[in-house]
Amino acid sequence: MIDNGYLFAKDDKRLFINTSLGCISKCRFCYLKNLGMDKIQRKTWKEILNLLEASDYKYSKNTLITIGCFSECFDDYNKKETIEIIKFFLQKGNQVQISTKRYVSYDDIKELIPFIKYYGQFVIFVSSSTITDYKIYELGTEQLDLRFRTFDLREYNIPVVLYMKPIIQDVTVKDLILYKKIIISKGISDVVIGSLFTEEKGEEIVHFLSKDYLFYNECDDEKKIMNELSIITRTWRRSTEVMNDLKKFEIFDGIKKEVSTLLEKDKSGHGIEHINRVYSMSLRFAHQEKADEFVVSLIALLHEVDDYKLFGNENAKNLTNAKIIMNKFDISDEIQEKVLDAIEKIGYKKSLMGIRPSSLEGMIVSDADMCDGLGVTGILRTYDYQKVHGKPFFDKNVFPDSNLNAETYKLVDDSAVCHCFEKLLRLKNLMLTKSGKEEASNRHDIVVSILYHLFEEENAPEWTEYLNHFLKSIDLKN
Ligand code: SF4
Repeated sequence: MIDNGYLFAKDDKRLFINTSLGCISKCRFCYLKNLGMDKIQRKTWKEILNLLEASDYKYSKNTLITIGCFSECFDDYNKKETIEIIKFFLQKGNQVQISTKRYVSYDDIKELIPFIKYYGQFVIFVSSSTITDYKIYELGTEQLDLRFRTFDLREYNIPVVLYMKPIIQDVTVKDLILYKKIIISKGISDVVIGSLFTEEKGEEIVHFLSKDYLFYNECDDEKKIMNELSIITRTWRRSTEVMNDLKKFEIFDGIKKEVSTLLEKDKSGHGIEHINRVYSMSLRFAHQEKADEFVVSLIALLHEVDDYKLFGNENAKNLTNAKIIMNKFDISDEIQEKVLDAIEKIGYKKSLMGIRPSSLEGMIVSDADMCDGLGVTGILRTYDYQKVHGKPFFDKNVFPDSNLNAETYKLVDDSAVCHCFEKLLRLKNLMLTKSGKEEASNRHDIVVSILYHLFEEENAPEWTEYLNHFLKSIDLKN
């Protein structure tokens, strides 16, 4: 137990941290005034961590860190302290959640990204109780358009949750249609619908106080809002339920380590760096396509661990390593089946044989895998691979094989540029999802632009002509 305002915990399951006590905003429903926190007191992140160290409170890596219940944690004066506290606990392996009515930008949190070990280790809850009347009820908070831009952080694989807490009777419900629009337009996948804390005695005491001052008191509108919103998104009663659900992604930190060890000898551009890029892109696509993020993550992380070039044909056929890893991390048979089915069908050569993934999750990873073969990364990977095998980047005298099929396709080509024609420039047409098509189209244009520049620099007009014809022919096939 620890309870000194800045730090509060009843047990080692959850630790509440406040970088400040009191808030400059003046929300009508705020409970801080009931707790006598009218004036703002602050401590630096170092002082707060010193307080923690000096106490006899014992936390572990499994302790959930919750920041900001006695203040807005992302005001200009305490944002830096909040970031440092988050960084500290991410490095310790803890899950960290913040709730805020401020705009959190990529620039604000970019320094945290390298410390996030798995999707869901750091989660932002964007708080809003009313849209049309926020200037009355949430006086002094961030204007809503800007506040809701925080949801754009999902592009960087940071879960951002809509925190409709408290529901204000007869007020929040008026904006149900507007909230639905925002949930759909922003692709918000999780919404917490919570009660106002009041002094009126209720069944449940609020979780961040040791004395019974405040209670949860559910209002009539909560059920209606919950019922309506659960048709279009996942709804929860408590932020801790969201955090618990996301904790399942923690195993991916362990799986990544296994995969990294297995692929450390890879020289073909399919090592852990490729896996990390595909994993990250796949998760982004999964949000956009509303796919099962857990299954997508497993497919993305395991799609190269039985590659025949490193592990032989027997492994490639039986997917031995993927099975060993999934068993080690207790993945259910049902999920294993989905993952193995997708892995069996991912790959450029397989696509030339007409083998394509059939599940949405498999399609997403297939697209992300192929997108990683495009753009600047695709060109560099191609260059590296051909160079390792003694092939030049460009040989003016050797043109690509125009009769490409699964039998004639070769990994080691006559040059990196030939490989661009035999593989990279064809990938755009193999995309299976909307997200993949958009990403591939941008990356394809980069490859095309690099090739045009190269042929000009090399004074090779016959190659420019060849590229023109080639692009027309693949566009016709599309
Ligand atoms: S932003 Fe949060 S802490 Fe600040 S006044 Fe509003 S409810 Fe209270």
